[in-house]
Amino acid sequence: MSMPVIMYHHVLKEDSFVATSIDNFQKQMEFISRHYKTLRSDEFCAYLKGEKSYNNGVVITFDDGWRDNLELAYPILKQYNLRAILFVVTGWVDEASKHSYPFVMHKHNQAKQIIKTRPNEVILNYTQLENMQDVFDIHSHTHFHRDDYFGKISLEEELVLSKERLKAKLNINTTHLCWPRGVYTQDDIALAKKIGYNVMYTTKRGINKVGQFDQIKRLAVKKDDKWLKKQLFIFKHDIIGGIYAKLKP
Ligand SMILES: [Zn+2]
Repeated sequence: MSMPVIMYHHVLKEDSFVATSIDNFQKQMEFISRHYKTLRSDEFCAYLKGEKSYNNGVVITFDDGWRDNLELAYPILKQYNLRAILFVVTGWVDEASKHSYPFVMHKHNQAKQIIKTRPNEVILNYTQLENMQDVFDIHSHTHFHRDDYFGKISLEEELVLSKERLKAKLNINTTHLCWPRGVYTQDDIALAKKIGYNVMYTTKRGINKVGQFDQIKRLAVKKDDKWLKKQLFIFKHDIIGGIYAKLKP
C-alpha cells in the first residue's frame, strides 16, 4: 500500500484558487476521521523507513502558513482529533511576529499582497504557531519562499535560515522541506540533504512508497468529500495510483 499525502493551502468561506471552503473542509475531515488515520510527521518518517505500517493512513499537509489555517481549519481538525503538517515560510513568520493584526479572510492573490504590508493579518506568527502544535507538526517551506517580498537570498540561505529560525523560535529540529511551487532540481535536492533535510515534498501527484523520501507526491485537494474519498482510494493503491498519476497529470 502507498501512503496518500494531501495538500491544502487556504481554508476560506468559499472554494476558489488554492482554497477549500469551510463547508467542504468540514465534510472532508469528517470523512477522514471515520475511515483514515492521519499521521504525524514522525509517524510518516517511520512509514517511509519501513519501520511501521499503517492501515488506511493519510498525511494532511498545509503550505505557506496562512492565518486561516488557525482561524478556520484548526478548530475542525481538533474537533475530529486529526493531525496535519504545516509548512511555514520562516521569513514571513518573522515579519508577522513584529506586529499583531486582527484576522481578515482574504483570497489567495489578495493575501499574497498583504504579506508585504500587514503580514499577521494573513500569516501566522510564532506565538500562534506555538499554540497550534497540538494539531500541527511545523516544518520548513524555506525562509522567503523564493519570493523577493523582503529581499532576495540564495537557495542555501533559504534552507539554512528556515531551519535555524524553527530551532531558535519554536525549538523544532526540522528535517522536512516543502519546495515552494514544487520547483526544484536534483542539485537542489542534494543541497537540501547536505543541510539536513531528508523528507522533501513536491506538488506532483502520485504514490509514496517505503524508501522514497526525497520526492514525496501530493494530491491537491479540490471539490468535496466524495471527490476526496475517490482520490484517497486511488492513491493508496500502488498500481491504480501509479497508472492514474500518469494518465491524469
Ligand atoms: Zn508555497
